[in-house]
Amino acid sequence: MQHVLVFNSGSSSFKFSLFSTESEAPLLTGIAEKLGTSEAFMSLKAVDGRKEQLDIHRDHEAAIQTLVEKLPAYDLSFDDVAVVGHRVVHGGETFSASVKIDDKVLADIRSCSALAPLHNPANVLGIELVKELYPELPQVAVFDTAFHQTLPSKAFLYPIPYKLYKEQGIRRYGFHGTSHRYVAETAIEQLKLSEDDSQILVAHLGNGCSATAVVNGKSVDTTMGLTPLEGLVMGTRSGDVDPSLHQYLQDTLGWSLSRITDVLNRESGLLGLSEVSNDMRTLVAAAESGSEGAIIAIDVFCFRLARHLAALTASLSRVDALIFTGGIGENSPGIRARVLEQLVIFGFRVDVSSNDIHGREAGGVITEAGSTVAMVIQTNEEAMIARDALSLLNGKEVAQ
Ligand code: AMP
Repeated sequence: MQHVLVFNSGSSSFKFSLFSTESEAPLLTGIAEKLGTSEAFMSLKAVDGRKEQLDIHRDHEAAIQTLVEKLPAYDLSFDDVAVVGHRVVHGGETFSASVKIDDKVLADIRSCSALAPLHNPANVLGIELVKELYPELPQVAVFDTAFHQTLPSKAFLYPIPYKLYKEQGIRRYGFHGTSHRYVAETAIEQLKLSEDDSQILVAHLGNGCSATAVVNGKSVDTTMGLTPLEGLVMGTRSGDVDPSLHQYLQDTLGWSLSRITDVLNRESGLLGLSEVSNDMRTLVAAAESGSEGAIIAIDVFCFRLARHLAALTASLSRVDALIFTGGIGENSPGIRARVLEQLVIFGFRVDVSSNDIHGREAGGVITEAGSTVAMVIQTNEEAMIARDALSLLNGKEVAQ
């Protein structure tokens, strides 16, 4: 049986999932952390619930070797792995779909590194290592940005001097594309919408948050931009602020550009506003106990999300469905209800009891009959990467 290994390689960590062709539930998942230090370790979790933690003490290479050696203990073999699918954060304007990796593709991924200096080099490291250890094994790259390459120029250009786009590639790229694509495809299938005539909104709400307008299965607008800082309020990221804020903070507080960038990325969003936590579950509990910070943070989060979703409808001629996904989107009835109430102008009427159980008994749908549809779909980026890797391995086209 063909297996697919999905890799998400970071600078000091890598996550993996091993899939068979039979199911979108992985046979084995794991994460190796603190790589490159003597404290490096790997946690494994199998489909039968078995879990274990292993010391690695070394780097990415040692982690991959440990994984390969460990597979037989789970009745698995690395010999069955037919292809490795890698999550790659930035594909720039070069990659508008997943691709099989060769030397040219690897060089092109490297050349996108300026746009994602923390992520792309780490992704490249994972690809190079697999190539070095298993030169014959086919590899596929699946990009976070690729799904949004269908944005029209009116949606991806910033209103700044055009040559900054032409010469420096400064434009809106969008992220979370693999999740948005998986969720949009699943929604079209589950709601029995026509592939050529469907108009949906997807809200991916996790620690990072973004929303996308999807017409006929293609992304036409999205909230993240040149970097994943633009758009919605997130766990620690601010989302949109006045671009003059940088100058103002420098003038009034003497903050450096890197300090301001750090504050907007790591000390803002839910954490910054609430002064309690970046974690929505903690904030919901704190708000119930009367924490003013938590109440305000949730208010701003929901309002800004609704405002962005309304803005995304400028790219639609009707709303077939709004899909919630990601840790918050999949698990928080309160947040979903607040957002849908704020968007009453689009005809959403929440079905309270269905929303409370995340639409579990109604195919994910959390709205009343006759309402514009809102639903919950669990995202599965790894399964999407595995799907693309297998399709490309078998010579099939993959969707943009
Ligand atoms: P993710 O990055 O997709 O894993 O999502 C993480 C976010 O989902 C965190 O803010 C969690 O607090 C949030 N989350 C998970 N479960 C719940 C829940 N039951 N209620 C509210 N937020 C939740």
